[in-house]
Amino acid sequence: MGETFSRNKRVPPPHKIGSQKQKENNIIMEINLTKNKKVKPDFGNLGFGKYMSDHMLIADYADGAWGEPKIVPYAPFAIDPASQILHYGQGIFEGMKAYKSKNGGITLFRPRDNFLRMNKSAERLCMPKIDVDKTLDSLYELVRAEKDWIPDADGTSLYIRPAMFCSDVYLGVKTGAHYRFFIITCPVGAYYANGLEPTKIFIEDFYTRSSIGGTGEAKCMGNYAASLIGQEKARELGFDQALWLDAKDKKYVEEVGSMNIFFVIDGVVVTPALSGSILAGITRDSALGLLRKNGYKTEERKISVDELLTAQESGRLNEAFGTGTAAVVSPVGEIVFKGKSYLINGGKMGKISGFLYDTLTGIQTGAIKDDYGWTVRL
Ligand SMILES: *Cc1c(COP(=O)(O)O)cnc(C)c1O
Repeated sequence: MGETFSRNKRVPPPHKIGSQKQKENNIIMEINLTKNKKVKPDFGNLGFGKYMSDHMLIADYADGAWGEPKIVPYAPFAIDPASQILHYGQGIFEGMKAYKSKNGGITLFRPRDNFLRMNKSAERLCMPKIDVDKTLDSLYELVRAEKDWIPDADGTSLYIRPAMFCSDVYLGVKTGAHYRFFIITCPVGAYYANGLEPTKIFIEDFYTRSSIGGTGEAKCMGNYAASLIGQEKARELGFDQALWLDAKDKKYVEEVGSMNIFFVIDGVVVTPALSGSILAGITRDSALGLLRKNGYKTEERKISVDELLTAQESGRLNEAFGTGTAAVVSPVGEIVFKGKSYLINGGKMGKISGFLYDTLTGIQTGAIKDDYGWTVRL
């Protein structure tokens, strides 16, 4: 997916926010700010995904075109019980973060790539594409409106959740004519309660997440519904996450939870190739870019469980970690396969995981210079 990623060049200047239509930089946008601001939660104890901010962005698709995006007070949607999304699950989403730097500035990390990926998901799910530039402009307005909701302590950020669903009221199965796109935001702390503490993962050898030709490459809602059972099984057995195998041979590792997976074998950083059933993570792509630029040897290829366990047994499996927007980098301290446990790096976070976490979060918060054109400053 590397080719479709692009540099974030276009950053419009700040706009004045008011309760009227604005026309600047070709965006006409309705911004309706709330007079009833919520009481903010304790930013020192945010957890993940619990507190929604004051506003949201919505845009509706009808008659073959997207209507103008609007920023409105955060509120529930009224949804018809016969809406397609409630029956057939035609829905996609994205996840990204805004960070407040120490000097008060706001940075976003590769937001254009999230909207490009959303359009790929839309294509797979037969949904209308969004206008990437226009959606970026309206996202910047939303983030500016919510600037007081961006926490600034280490490891915290404003999580941004764009999503789209089919709102046609009709019980036949077909592609719809009406869609709602929306963006909500919520201040978040570290994704895992225990922060960078290495996780224990369970290799799931019965259930599968996706198959080639399926929807694994799309960030669609149903993928998560289908993966909950593996997640629950892992939790019941005392693990943090399930590591999924390929659906055909149940031999090769694919992803872990909502993260891409990496291993360091004999000093070489390996991650499963984007085979068609794996989500092309933006954190994955960023990690590969950083590693290559810093002289690490990387490989994107098939990785079998056999190879991993053999490497572990002969002391050549140096590290394992997951990558994703929510956790950024999550070290893996132990993997369990068919009841047998394999400790990785003595159960501790490895050097490469630490390097990636520090460098990525440094670039994201503006503490480290961005040589890649990844950040957008508002
Ligand atoms: C979102 C997601 C990821 C991580 O992607 P990022 O762009 O790095 O946040 C990995 N796997 C799955 C299944 C996902 O949904």
